[in-house]
Amino acid sequence: MSSLTDLNEKIAKCDACRLCKQRKRAVPGEGREDAEIMFIGEAPGWHEDQQGRPFVGPAGQFLDELLQSIGLKRGEVYIANVVKCRPPSNRDPLPDEIGACRKWLDRQIELIKPKMIVTLGRYSMARFFPGATISKIHGTARNSEGVTYFAMYHPAAALHQGSLRGVIMEDMLKIPSFLTQAEAAAEEPSPQKAKKAEKMEKVEKVEQTEPKQLSMF
Ligand code: SF4
Repeated sequence: MSSLTDLNEKIAKCDACRLCKQRKRAVPGEGREDAEIMFIGEAPGWHEDQQGRPFVGPAGQFLDELLQSIGLKRGEVYIANVVKCRPPSNRDPLPDEIGACRKWLDRQIELIKPKMIVTLGRYSMARFFPGATISKIHGTARNSEGVTYFAMYHPAAALHQGSLRGVIMEDMLKIPSFLTQAEAAAEEPSPQKAKKAEKMEKVEKVEQTEPKQLSMF
């Protein structure tokens, strides 16, 4: 059993917050275990709760379209949410619920090691862009410790406010170029690696010169 499957089984049995009481199924997430891009939404809705899968309702259909627009399929990325169980009546997740569920998302990121994390909506954005406002930072990225974070509106926003559909589609089209940059950044030696390589080079030089000096005596 893979570590991610094992993790998903633990999430399915989790009772760390009140959301476990009314869920039909927990929705851990799905996709490639070694995905380069991870999409993180807010919380499961009714359809997701029924099926135990993320983004399977109308917002999920739009996400599929968005993925298609950049030549990706759902199975090539990883899709998850900030909280893994449906809040009653699709209300917003509460801070203590987000806090209780944080360990699961942290572990998923640790196992998948994505090069790029795309936040979908306010709650996911708040985790990776603290203090930011979605209307100001959507479509922009930041890099931290080798991971590129990219903020987008939640696909469901387009269902409530049709004018956002075009904005979301435009933002999605920026992902391939940010991913290429993220891949290039991941291949660049980090300052620590460069320092280590420099040190090794010096040691090698000393080793090469020492026998010559010794032969003079
Ligand atoms: S929302 Fe998260 S913390 Fe709360 S019960 Fe579900 S899996 Fe556990």
